[in-house]
Amino acid sequence: MDDCLFCKICAGEIPSTVLYEDDEILAFRDIDPQAPLHFLVVPKNHVQSAAQLTMQDGALLGKIFATIARLCEEQGITNGYRVVTNVGQQGGQSVPHLHFHVLAGRQLAWPPG
Ligand code: 5GP
Ligand code: ZN
Repeated sequence: MDDCLFCKICAGEIPSTVLYEDDEILAFRDIDPQAPLHFLVVPKNHVQSAAQLTMQDGALLGKIFATIARLCEEQGITNGYRVVTNVGQQGGQSVPHLHFHVLAGRQLAWPPG
């Protein structure tokens, strides 16, 4: 999609620190990390947010969560991690391309702000 930041990152038009990539998904470090480990996982196809997902996206989501678990293990995370996807303005979504935040490496508070 034209003018979408994460579509441009997926296309390599904007540089990022990639942790994993295949034909469907990209995992890259967040530019403004909120924890010692903070990366984002996105589908390469433009989807606005989790609110647009359908039953047909089940395999994609399975791959995303399996990849998150593998990357956390590779990064030495043994004490847990958090996966967050913000939806819409009140949900705190600032980039309208579906992304899963993965946060780890410190004790995370609950509830979030
Ligand atoms: P949201 O607020 O939509 O849930 O999350 C967007 C995330 O994208 C934020 O954590 C922000 O730091 C990250 N971000 C924004 N612009 C860039 C960028 O150009 N590169 C990378 N790697 N992350 C970005
Ligand atoms: Zn996009």
